[in-house]
Amino acid sequence: PYDGPRAKEIFRKRTEFLSPSLFHFYDRPLNIVDGKMQYLFDEDGRRYLDAFGGIATVCCGHCHPDIVEAIVNQAKRIQHSTVLYLNHAIADFAEALASKMPGDLKVVFFTNSGTEANELALMIARLYTGSHDIISLRNGYHGNAAGTMGATAQSNWKFNIVQTGVHHALNPDPYRGAFGSDGEKYARDIQEIIEFGTTGRVGGFISEAIQGVGGIVELAPGYLPAAYNMVRKAGGLCIADEVQAGVARTGSHFWGFEAHGVIPDIVTMAKGIGNGIPIGAVVTTPEIAQVLTRRSYFNTFGGNPVSTAGGHAVLKVLEKEKLQENAFFVGSYLKERLNLLKEKHDIIGDVRGRGFLLGVELVTDRQAKTPAKAEISHVMNHMKEMGVLVGKGGFYGNVFRITPPLCFTKEDSDFFVEVMDIALSKL
Ligand code: PMP
Repeated sequence: PYDGPRAKEIFRKRTEFLSPSLFHFYDRPLNIVDGKMQYLFDEDGRRYLDAFGGIATVCCGHCHPDIVEAIVNQAKRIQHSTVLYLNHAIADFAEALASKMPGDLKVVFFTNSGTEANELALMIARLYTGSHDIISLRNGYHGNAAGTMGATAQSNWKFNIVQTGVHHALNPDPYRGAFGSDGEKYARDIQEIIEFGTTGRVGGFISEAIQGVGGIVELAPGYLPAAYNMVRKAGGLCIADEVQAGVARTGSHFWGFEAHGVIPDIVTMAKGIGNGIPIGAVVTTPEIAQVLTRRSYFNTFGGNPVSTAGGHAVLKVLEKEKLQENAFFVGSYLKERLNLLKEKHDIIGDVRGRGFLLGVELVTDRQAKTPAKAEISHVMNHMKEMGVLVGKGGFYGNVFRITPPLCFTKEDSDFFVEVMDIALSKL
């Protein structure tokens, strides 16, 4: 049950020496040895079209030559020094990143992951406001350390450790939520949490613009402006978790929050900003950033020359190859084609998302919205056999997550939809 002889050996080692909690999507686990732009290759040289992009992480394409070159050149000169010395890589990248931000968001703290970035953002909000209470959205995912696991609101990602100080608000989910696409109605729950669950003052509010792990749920229009208003009136800071929706992926905007017409107080990112190398960042205003001078704050690898040289190269490639525009045009085209597929297959309950952050929810009954859990695995395995890799997620595990590298083409989209069509037809 393996694709290739090495796969069996690797699987044995993984079972014996690696975390027993690791999981994989396929009946026959794949051994991926190479990546090039939107393609992955297994040990037999078989090519797969990658529509998952390392969970929305590979933004410019696997092993993009410009980014590899920047990383390798930097690695040959100096890989690590500590930020106690001056080095141009971190300074240049911070400046470039700040230039992509609206308002007064221009002070960057580098971390190594999305979890670390959100942990830092929550701490900053609590320090700045002096309030401990944080509000996050049900179905959100923000990380797996103590604080961020508290903010994450899906039981399947939460372990039974103490997770204090977070209130989980009603999710403004247009497909499954009680108020449909009326964002302002969902936002009333924020006000109720503030009034009935806190002293009336809060530390902050954190949310994704499009929930990734939660199954590509776009927040109902009007929700974020209303929620930000209420949180700010209660003294809190607004944090945008752009780990999945950020860095040009949604096509229409560089950051996911921009589609909602809000400007956060703190923005966090990871995944796509490194195109595969570990890097995360927190961006905030000079005034808010001051709170971290009250004590010493330090992160050994955060902002190291190799990761920041890579991150800077990502921004340059995005611009040079107009990948945000590509995400917009090709992503819109792909979404249209998926909507046509919905007309053909009753099992597709919903098609949603923006740019290259798209979701297709499978249900066995469109009225009851019963999650088609077994079916989605079947379709995924069949698509893999035909050479297409896609992700899945959502609380019920019944949503396809389509998050390819942003260089994905119209032809790739056609191939993707045709393969999905065949796999759905064979159910
Ligand atoms: N926030 C969001 C929106 C995410 O999707 C993730 C990862 N899936 C994280 C935070 C955590 O990032 P990391 O896995 O790099 O810690």
